[in-house]
Amino acid sequence: MHHHIAIIGTGFSGLGMGIRLKREGIEDFVLLERAKDVGGTWRDNSYPGCQCDIPSHLYSLSFAPNPDWSRTYSMQPEIQDYLRRTAEKFELIPHIRFDHEVTGATWNEDAKRWEIDTASGRVSADILVNSGGGLADPRIPDLPGLDSFEGTYFHSAAWNHDHDLTGRKVAVVGTGASAIQIVPKIQPDVAELTVFQRTPPWVMPHRDRPISRLERTLYKRIPLLQKVPRYFVYWLRELLVLGLVYRPKALRFLERVGRRHMEEAIDDRELRDRLTPDYTAGCKRLLPSNGWYPALAKENVDVVTTGVTAIEPNGIRDEDGTLHEVDTIVFATGFYVTELPIAERIRGREGRSLAETWNGSMEAYLGTAVAGFPNFFLIPGPNVGLGHNSVVVMFEGQINYTLGAIRAMGRQAAATIEVRPEVQERYNAAIQKKLANTVWNTGGCSSWYLDRNGVNTVLYPDFTWRFRLKTARFDPAKFEFATRSAARPAAELAATR
Ligand code: NAP
Repeated sequence: MHHHIAIIGTGFSGLGMGIRLKREGIEDFVLLERAKDVGGTWRDNSYPGCQCDIPSHLYSLSFAPNPDWSRTYSMQPEIQDYLRRTAEKFELIPHIRFDHEVTGATWNEDAKRWEIDTASGRVSADILVNSGGGLADPRIPDLPGLDSFEGTYFHSAAWNHDHDLTGRKVAVVGTGASAIQIVPKIQPDVAELTVFQRTPPWVMPHRDRPISRLERTLYKRIPLLQKVPRYFVYWLRELLVLGLVYRPKALRFLERVGRRHMEEAIDDRELRDRLTPDYTAGCKRLLPSNGWYPALAKENVDVVTTGVTAIEPNGIRDEDGTLHEVDTIVFATGFYVTELPIAERIRGREGRSLAETWNGSMEAYLGTAVAGFPNFFLIPGPNVGLGHNSVVVMFEGQINYTLGAIRAMGRQAAATIEVRPEVQERYNAAIQKKLANTVWNTGGCSSWYLDRNGVNTVLYPDFTWRFRLKTARFDPAKFEFATRSAARPAAELAATR
């Protein structure tokens, strides 16, 4: 089956792209989804307590507002429900092929199209958009002895809902964004909880509250009203860029806030010392939680900071040689973010995969287009991640730019479009230069923002409104276009428009 456009994934970005295509009047597109439902990350992460740490009014598609959010920070089931309803409302379901995990996608230079192999057969497309997401593939560390474990283990993003934790001895490995939500939720039910912390996070007070019925009614009756909290939260969060990017020292006040937050919940000084980070706040993601520290102070909780050396049939051995006996291990250990498995499956003009091309350090122009990969767009892509604001804002910028590229192809009757290598190179050199002084690179932490070459290929080092300005207008001069017969420089093509 051939389509004009194939999109991989049905999370925020894939659905957003589909909606915008329909609005452009383009109907010949397909969304390839590996699961049986839409939602991506928000479908998969169904662990207890899963909640978005970006406010609801902002964490949604601008063209699909939801006046019904019940809390200022939405819980996962509500976000998943929103994505499902959005897919239905905008009539995307007929475009979705469920159970179609992409196992390979290869550029066919002769036919000038993508040949896409999926778990349920082959499709082809003129244009391929990868909206597979950055937090799509859970990472369980390769620990010796894991196979010998006689209890039950699973990743936070693949929660085993059939496994009742009541009365069990549970270990949670990791203290990132997922763990700090899981621990307070499961602590009251389990018999013993051992938390394995490698690096403590900076944890901030959480300002979550229910949204009143009156507020919801007003948002429904006067949709413009909902833009007030949306813009308020957006601009407030943009202020953080001043510290994160331009003056990391200015973030010190957050460390004071974090320390006080901890002191209010934990009397034990020795425990507080173990939980206090030794890096600048903001270097790793700032985590909001009112439940984390109180949970760690409970009698049935132990925080182990001596590392995980091995898994044994009945527990976890730490670096001091102590065996912590548990019957369940929850790995809240993050995702393959900088080594995306899908990058190994997508092959461009030279037959090389994205992973081979990147060689450990992802890069793209505006996080969206990659030289050597014609008619290919990534939403999200390298360096569009955020530590401070809603990433959906970035996705929408990328969607705008991709639509601009598709329109330009149509105007120029081009069979292919490809970013010029020197444009990509210049863009990424500027991104890396800017990242050099940010808190993520200088804050003294080792985070998943840095890839195996030590390069930050995840975060966007600037205000998101700047990214939106850059992606608002497509610039054909940055790209090579080719007709079916021959390639012509963009400037020449622009002159013929
Ligand atoms: P994460 O932030 O990458 O945290 C992983 C944790 O596992 C870290 O504490 C890490 O320690 C630890 N870890 C990894 N490998 C380990 C090993 N071999 N031994 C011991 N500890 C190990 O992952 P996450 O919590 O799933 O969150 C990932 C991202 O998803 C977040 O940053 C956020 O962007 C997003 N997220 C958002 C929300 C939300 O909106 N509320 C919720 C969940 C996730 P180190 O710090 O030492 O590496």
